[in-house]
Amino acid sequence: MSGMLYLVPTPIGNLGDISIRCRQTLEQADFIAAEDTRVTLKLLNHLGIKKSLVSYYEHNKAQKGNVILDRILAGETCALVSDAGSPAISDPGEDLVKQCAEAGITVCAIPGPCALITALSISGQSTGRFCFEGFLSTAKKSRREHLLCLEKEQRTMIFYEAPHKLVATLESMAEVFGADRPISLCRELSKLHEEVIRTTLGGALELYAQQAPKGEFVLVVAGAAPEEKIEATAQDAASRVKELVAGGMSRKDAIKQTAKELDLPKNVVYDAALAE
Ligand code: SAM
Repeated sequence: MSGMLYLVPTPIGNLGDISIRCRQTLEQADFIAAEDTRVTLKLLNHLGIKKSLVSYYEHNKAQKGNVILDRILAGETCALVSDAGSPAISDPGEDLVKQCAEAGITVCAIPGPCALITALSISGQSTGRFCFEGFLSTAKKSRREHLLCLEKEQRTMIFYEAPHKLVATLESMAEVFGADRPISLCRELSKLHEEVIRTTLGGALELYAQQAPKGEFVLVVAGAAPEEKIEATAQDAASRVKELVAGGMSRKDAIKQTAKELDLPKNVVYDAALAE
């Protein structure tokens, strides 16, 4: 009988945020796969847990994934932890979950700390519909391309960012979304210097021109305002039909095309053209 994989979220700042269930799962697992064994060892020492650790991180995940999988298939239970927060969210773990799913291994995700949800909740932005965009590229061109895909995004957008890249990211965002776009910069969540700066992209750039950004950030950016739909009038329809007919189009086709272009029912365009 095969074992299973538990995804165990760990505190993103405040050690008190480890849950009873996470603690029990770490205690009961046969082994723990950790992004950085030194970071996890500190947490385990704090919790008084002694357990065998396997390192599983970005640059060894292809090889270590198979080792972990074999152990689970042989009946062991693995608890996967990252440095902080929910494993598999902008963290190594995504691939291990895929591998387990393909091998028919049960994966259980324990709910717990996650930087993006914590930030969204206190951002003051709309939370009904949102999209998570992870980390933007450090390369200006691909960062811009990524943002251009989001130019018309109306949902609240969430990004992870490191302090040394923050200003470059804000500059690219202001270029694509405009300096007036609201943003909530959520930093050092659950830590001593937790802060939420609710401003605009322009305002954030002004702020960080005066002081260097410090700490870990989640950026919560308001979505684009819905495009205002300007209703076409009967007069618009009649003029467009006239224009198309003058260009050589049959009256029937001109009515059909005008209805499509102006998003009006065909009979409305027909009546307008007739009245003209
Ligand atoms: N899997 C983790 C999660 O979802 O909570 C995130 C891991 S990702 C490698 C690390 C990023 O999460 C940081 O660069 C930062 O953007 C965000 N982050 C983590 N802890 C944070 C904190 N206490 N305050 C603000 N942002 C944090």
